[in-house]
Amino acid sequence: MADFSQQRDAMVRHQLAARGLHDPRVLDAMGRVPREPFVGASMQAFAYDDGPLPIDAGQTISQPYIVARMVELARIAPGDRVLEIGAGSGYAAAVMAAIAARVFTIDRIERLAALARGRFESLGYDNIDVRTGDGTQGWPEAAPFDAIVASAGGPGVPDVLKGQLAIGGRLVMPVGASLHAQQLVRVTRVEAARFETEAKDHVAFVPLIGVFGWGDEAAY
Ligand code: SAH
Repeated sequence: MADFSQQRDAMVRHQLAARGLHDPRVLDAMGRVPREPFVGASMQAFAYDDGPLPIDAGQTISQPYIVARMVELARIAPGDRVLEIGAGSGYAAAVMAAIAARVFTIDRIERLAALARGRFESLGYDNIDVRTGDGTQGWPEAAPFDAIVASAGGPGVPDVLKGQLAIGGRLVMPVGASLHAQQLVRVTRVEAARFETEAKDHVAFVPLIGVFGWGDEAAY
């Protein structure tokens, strides 16, 4: 029987800390949130592998390093309200909810949103709201957010999402002109009408499909 907690500790040391991730809040959250409940039974043995894994509906749970890196770039802190676009398995939302006050997460695929909701309930996360919909339009009723994290890659940062950031809020999103290769971009709302944009790591996420993303799914 695999000892998941030992595997999780090793993941934090070898995949995160050894690669330069040092934010104690992020390392602590990654060390506390189990990854195995977020993958299917046949994938549990690989839950702490150093890569993405397939989940339902042809989607993926991101590599642990990438989840930690995005949370670090978004500077998620206690008390924050966070929006995630692309709930997928729910794993990244759970990691962020281990730090922030409240996480709002959206997936366009109803089945994934329902599975994620069930996992949050059974694991006792009571500070995560999940809904089905097009996350490229944000979650206006819950805005403003201290952080917005997109877990799927689009052609550009939608203005509507920038508009849902609090002053001082950070948005982290994979942006790229091609469907499967992007660069992580961090946009900080420094003043009401002033945004700072920084380009960070090269990454490969699944496509963000929506009104302000890659448009029609049928094209891919
Ligand atoms: N954060 C997830 C990774 C999800 S993969 C995890 O930890 O498991 C990316 C997800 O983005 C997929 O589930 C996909 O359905 C979703 N997605 C793609 N476009 C979207 C959109 N416009 N709105 C909401 N979700 C979207």
